[in-house]
Amino acid sequence: MYDLHTHSYYSDGELSPDALLSHAAARGVTCLALTDHDTVDGLIEAQTAAKAQGLSFVNGAEISVTWNDKTIHIVGLSINPMEPNLQAGLLHHQQLRDMRAQAIGERLAAIGIPGAHEGAAKYAKHGVITRPHFAHYLVEQGVVKDMAAAFKHYLGKDKPGFVPLVWAALEEGVQWILQAGGVAIIAHPLRYRLSKSKLRRLIQDFKNAGGHGIEVVTSRHDPAGQQRAEQLCREFDLYAGAGSDFHGPSTWANLGGLAPIAEDCRAIWEHPQWNEIR
Ligand code: AMP
Ligand code: MN
Ligand code: MN
Ligand code: MN
Repeated sequence: MYDLHTHSYYSDGELSPDALLSHAAARGVTCLALTDHDTVDGLIEAQTAAKAQGLSFVNGAEISVTWNDKTIHIVGLSINPMEPNLQAGLLHHQQLRDMRAQAIGERLAAIGIPGAHEGAAKYAKHGVITRPHFAHYLVEQGVVKDMAAAFKHYLGKDKPGFVPLVWAALEEGVQWILQAGGVAIIAHPLRYRLSKSKLRRLIQDFKNAGGHGIEVVTSRHDPAGQQRAEQLCREFDLYAGAGSDFHGPSTWANLGGLAPIAEDCRAIWEHPQWNEIR
């Protein structure tokens, strides 16, 4: 079974790549992609761990892009993590994340919550800093009871700790993936709160930019959502992706256990550029 969207502690996941791959094997996954936010730093460790577990592995990254003032996530798979343009792009995003983290810390301090930048950085010690690291700190400090509340009251759009960030443009993020020899997939397409026509515009722009597929199976879709996404695959003649978006054992989505893709949709692993490391 394929699981092509997962996170480790190199971004906002809980597990090391090693623990992630052990968990994947125990959950019956046979081919896993590690897709940390805006970083490829966990891939070498994950490849070694996949070999030890006898799993196939796919190099990936989940890249944040800005499209029409919205943040969209593009999963790149079968990428060459050493490709210079990809590396330069990811480095730029990591610098943006550092600047945003500083600014989030300042905003929270201004409303009486000091030490958040340092507190979040402590949770992010293995990799890039993300909003969930701030959420952990707010929970740890007793400011909120859980991660969801941290986003709802402090970190979500237009909340007091929200700092808008302009990522690379959609076309640019897709280019990084193409230049690195990979295939590009729109992650969790139904999670952006786009109207039907806007979602179609996103998919068309993505396809025009050279994108290959959309995530059809994800823990963030219910069965009706999966069917909608499959319909969009057919309509735009795109490949179908499948991944849990796993962030850790204590979170909402577990590894594997994914529904099959409809038979008349082409799975992304059938793409000619697909590259599994065995
Ligand atoms: P960032 O890329 O640093 O802006 O962080 C985005 C990440 O935050 C997403 O990949 C999710 O893992 C997480 N996230 C976003 N919204 C929520 C929420 N409402 N509750 C919990 N986690 C969230
Ligand atoms: Mn995440
Ligand atoms: Mn995402
Ligand atoms: Mn993700």
